[in-house]
Amino acid sequence: MKGNFNQSSNEPEFQGVALLDLKRQYEVLKDEIAESLKKVCDSGAFVLGPEVKALENNIANYSQVEYAVACASGSDALLLALMATGIGPGDEVLVPSFTFFATASAVTRLGARPVFVDIEPKSFNISVSDAAQKITAHTKAIIPVHLFGQMAEMVELNRLAQQSGITVIEDAAQSIGAELEGRRAGSWGDMGAFSFYPTKNLGGAGDGGLVTTRNAQLAQQLKLLHVHGMEPRYYHRVIGINSRLDSFQAAIINVKIKYLESWTMMRIQNAQRYNEMFLDAGLETVISIPKPFPNQRHVWNQYTIRVSDDQRDDLRKSLAEQKIGSEIYYPFGLHEQECFKYLGYTPESLPETYRASREVLSLPIFPELTEKEQQFVVRNIKLFFEVNPARHVFPTPTIMPLKKRDAA
Ligand SMILES: *Cc1c(COP(=O)(O)O)cnc(C)c1O
Repeated sequence: MKGNFNQSSNEPEFQGVALLDLKRQYEVLKDEIAESLKKVCDSGAFVLGPEVKALENNIANYSQVEYAVACASGSDALLLALMATGIGPGDEVLVPSFTFFATASAVTRLGARPVFVDIEPKSFNISVSDAAQKITAHTKAIIPVHLFGQMAEMVELNRLAQQSGITVIEDAAQSIGAELEGRRAGSWGDMGAFSFYPTKNLGGAGDGGLVTTRNAQLAQQLKLLHVHGMEPRYYHRVIGINSRLDSFQAAIINVKIKYLESWTMMRIQNAQRYNEMFLDAGLETVISIPKPFPNQRHVWNQYTIRVSDDQRDDLRKSLAEQKIGSEIYYPFGLHEQECFKYLGYTPESLPETYRASREVLSLPIFPELTEKEQQFVVRNIKLFFEVNPARHVFPTPTIMPLKKRDAA
């Protein structure tokens, strides 16, 4: 046997475990979604309109802010937030390198310079001390990304921003509903950017995004910028962009937001269960398991482990052979990307980003994932390391081992 996990013969054939299975969620919501889409068709309001207004109110309430402006994507939400800040040529914006491309490309689209900041190895989030070192007279803003569903160190970052007079734009695309000291993502910075891309915790059936803010003036500016700076009709005081959310997306997301809390609780439970299972399997130093901070609510858009860099890709391949989905978010820091070569970074100039990109592996964590599927994932990881003994030992997790739940 070459590291294969065989099902007992009396069970139906196992289909593997998808990294993300959106069909399970859709099956439950099918009728509600069909009805809401029909209402949009009947209304004839296909762009912006009452469904979008309702969505803006829903997200503003959910994210504990006064204002929300919906737009066409999370990437546009970042762009609009930077435009509202007045970012342009000559400006520098601090961004983590270990993030999705859009965090940095929004900066370059306005002719400004992204300055890449390293991460904290435990959280994968932007390093406050590295950010502080990289502030110059040209720095105008910082974009902390709440990566994988866990918030960056917003207390310290806000303090740093205040001292330096720079704007804080949270990239909350992966972290709707995440909390730090009870306060939600998108309510800490000057603005927060959200995405409704289908793989996010609150996803539509296509592209969509939104900017949150507690500042009335910024809200006004955002509202203007996303409709070509037009107010009133055909009068343009500023040059904006066309980034409107369509009513179909808003209608679907308005249905889904009612379930978001329960999905989040399911993600949290799945993450706890993985941690228990990995501890039970004695794998906690063979791989590094994610450890949420006690003052945070992690909403687990991804459950990301570390595997030593010489075994990560082999493990991933072996999981794929068992039809277990996994993904590498992200295989390179943005500072290593060809299009950002002109910025002059070397791969190891951000050592923690470099290391993380070679070690991370994200496992299935979607809400409807079953305990059995998680067992299958963990057992196959255990088997892999039985056949390929770990050549690297991660520090023992500092979290208290989770108590075994009583068999319910
Ligand atoms: C998804 C994502 C975005 C971009 O959102 P889109 O809706 O895909 O444009 C930006 N930042 C991060 C961290 C993301 O995960």
